[in-house]
Amino acid sequence: MPTARRPSRFRLPPDVRPTRYDLHLEPDLDGGTFRGEVRIALRLARPRAEIVLHAADLSIERASAQAGGREVTARVRLVRTDEAVALRFARPLPAGETTLALRFVGRLNQHLRGLYAAGADGRRYAFSQCEAADARRILPCFDEPSFKARFRVAIRVRDGETALSNGPVEGEEAVPGGRVVRFAETPPLSTYLLALAVGQLEASAPRLLGPVPIRVWHVPGKGRLTDFALEAAAEALRRLQDYFDIPYPYGKLDLVAVPDFEAGAMENAGAVFFRETLLLLDPATASLAERKRAAEVIAHELAHMWYGDLVTMAWWDDLWLNEAFATWMAYRVVDDWRPEWRMWQGFEHDRAGALAMDALASTHPIYAVVHSVAEATENFDAITYEKGAAVVRMIEHYLGPDAFRDGVRRYMRRHREGNTVAADLWRALEEASGKPVARVAQAWIAQPGFPLVSVAPARAGAGAALAVHQERFYADPGVPAARRRAKWPLPLVVKWGGTDGAATERFLVERVRDTVALPTGALPPWYFANAAAGGFYRVAHDPADRAALLAALGSALTPVERLALAGDQWALVRSARASIESFLDVADALGEETDYDVLDGIAGPLDVIDEQVAEPGSAMQAGFRAWIARRFGPQLERLGWAAAAGEDDPTRLRRAALVRLLGGVAEAPAVLAEARRRLDVYLADRGALEPNLADPVVSLAARVGDEALYERYRAALTAAATPQERRRFLLSLGSFRTRVTRERTLAAVLTPEIPTQDVAILLMRLLANPAAGGEAWKFMTRKWGALRRRIPPLMISRLVESTPALREPRYAREVARFFRAHPVPEARRAVRQALEVFRLNAELRRRTAPGLGRWLAARA
Ligand SMILES: [Zn+2]
Repeated sequence: MPTARRPSRFRLPPDVRPTRYDLHLEPDLDGGTFRGEVRIALRLARPRAEIVLHAADLSIERASAQAGGREVTARVRLVRTDEAVALRFARPLPAGETTLALRFVGRLNQHLRGLYAAGADGRRYAFSQCEAADARRILPCFDEPSFKARFRVAIRVRDGETALSNGPVEGEEAVPGGRVVRFAETPPLSTYLLALAVGQLEASAPRLLGPVPIRVWHVPGKGRLTDFALEAAAEALRRLQDYFDIPYPYGKLDLVAVPDFEAGAMENAGAVFFRETLLLLDPATASLAERKRAAEVIAHELAHMWYGDLVTMAWWDDLWLNEAFATWMAYRVVDDWRPEWRMWQGFEHDRAGALAMDALASTHPIYAVVHSVAEATENFDAITYEKGAAVVRMIEHYLGPDAFRDGVRRYMRRHREGNTVAADLWRALEEASGKPVARVAQAWIAQPGFPLVSVAPARAGAGAALAVHQERFYADPGVPAARRRAKWPLPLVVKWGGTDGAATERFLVERVRDTVALPTGALPPWYFANAAAGGFYRVAHDPADRAALLAALGSALTPVERLALAGDQWALVRSARASIESFLDVADALGEETDYDVLDGIAGPLDVIDEQVAEPGSAMQAGFRAWIARRFGPQLERLGWAAAAGEDDPTRLRRAALVRLLGGVAEAPAVLAEARRRLDVYLADRGALEPNLADPVVSLAARVGDEALYERYRAALTAAATPQERRRFLLSLGSFRTRVTRERTLAAVLTPEIPTQDVAILLMRLLANPAAGGEAWKFMTRKWGALRRRIPPLMISRLVESTPALREPRYAREVARFFRAHPVPEARRAVRQALEVFRLNAELRRRTAPGLGRWLAARA
């Protein structure tokens, strides 16, 4: 069992700086090992007899330095707790330039970090993943983002193997049994951006954008799946070059589909790595959601080529500078490429996820003090990415898009190839806009949580004035008033109904209580205090005004605003500021809703009511499901399951959203039965099902599937023609409910049949499966040692976050007890968050179940 060690807070001293790495690597894919030699050019600010650098899981055979024209060997001391190595020289190295030479060996590991082993179709590969701090598992190095240096990489491969790295190939020389591939020297890079890939890989023909060749790399046989990624990358790269006004800096662009990969993708400079599902698509069978997600992730990683790679945060506390910006930029770029995809409307789902996490007492500010690598790893979450992106978007709205872009260009030019802190960005934006950016932005990134904005007509006779009050929003109704007292510089955009259509007005509210006046004579018939859902806050409209909004719902609000209104109302229910009936009224008013994003948006809270408020198997749950079927079923009946010829995307997506709502949330027997029938059609012919229905049909049919169907899923995933299809069947193994199928899935989790990248996701499916959750939890606790060794830290956090699906309070106690006995430094916050959600769900159940019963009875 892993021991409870406090994560090391060790940081390298600033007076030893690397300027260049000359790395020669020889991976042995069959033996599962690698040998390496590195020469590191250093600049010493003062004489030193000892040099400390990072190294982990490496055995260093020899270390020396060049000083005064002579080679001096070093005594090597490993400092395991700090993942460091100290080189002690017999006499001090003088200040100035010197070169270290180190020879080392390591193992290709099995858990997706550093240089790791991966397999596909019986072939062996090695891939790198260095962020946050795993370059030290590949070579001894100065493994902190502010130590930027140039890399010259050479890799010895065997016959039939290919090697990729950050730079273009500069030359190859034959050696017995293979060749050495040399890559051109890179511009200065942080170590977390180093990329290495070795094995039998194939590439698409290059697509040129100006002088830059773009290629998609993949394991053999997948060449027909590369067109979409090439197009999305070229479209994104062109827009990014324009936006930043700096040409793409890394010579060539390789997009690499990695068969086993922890994150979605990784922005290694010049060699971006992806999960196969996010890069290799068949346009004939991919759903729109899969295409949108791939385009967004590709644009996100390419935005990093400038924002993150060329200009890099000085330390992990400003990780959000990278991630918030790249997240925001990706939506902007894809929205510009494909406006019909309505990317910002889809962003509302992400904003909602970030608001839910940020409403917990256990949340953290966007800017988080980071002492250790474990703490840095914890911050790859919805706050850093999605809340950060929402705040960037709010600042862009506040400054205007042109001033914002000019500020970003100024910042990029000033700091290219360097490192920055947030204040550098604020300064550039202030220079470009003349507005007090630092004061507004700083509050949003330094304070945890977000405001609840209550809006009501100001006192009688005040014309069109609205009284505004802000406080910190907590999901927990028990948080005392004193802790809620907080304010933000709040960019408030109010939309209202005028005589000739809707109008908006912008305000910056800086006080806890304020009054804003709409430029109309009297109060309009309706108003909505978060136009376009552009602000990162929740709104509590005065009840009479909310009723007026609901009455005018279809004509007054855009889909994204309807989505925000429903989300706000649900948040008010969770925090005991509104009755559950008030949310159900909103959901009922949306029964004829035709926008797929809105339907998907209300499915979330309805699912929470179904799973957490209603007792499983109770008459109340049956009544609730029957209401959903009555209210939303007729829409699906009118639409039918087959797409009409020439049917547009919004209609196809509406059908899929209704199937998810009626089948997934309400488990309507007719919908489950139809899904099961459609599955047979799909298994016989992948082209026979509307592509957007493939995901819901495969997962819903599993819920009612028997052992025979289970066997067909196992066969289908092995023979899958695309990565998306494979993922679909693999994850749906977790949705089967019979005893034999549950046991078989759990037995497979720790075998090579389930790639490491999918282990945690499959367990999350099982935890959420009402027939399998308890067993899955028991399995996790019994196999924890093996799981912990196999699953990378980020995925462990996600797994912990999903435990509240277990529902019953006794599981909350077990989760608390288990992680006290088996602490995971990277998931400490995830444990706190999970326990808080368990508690909030129990409180929600006690408080709202009677109201749900009354509301349903009135409609029976
Ligand atoms: Zn990113």
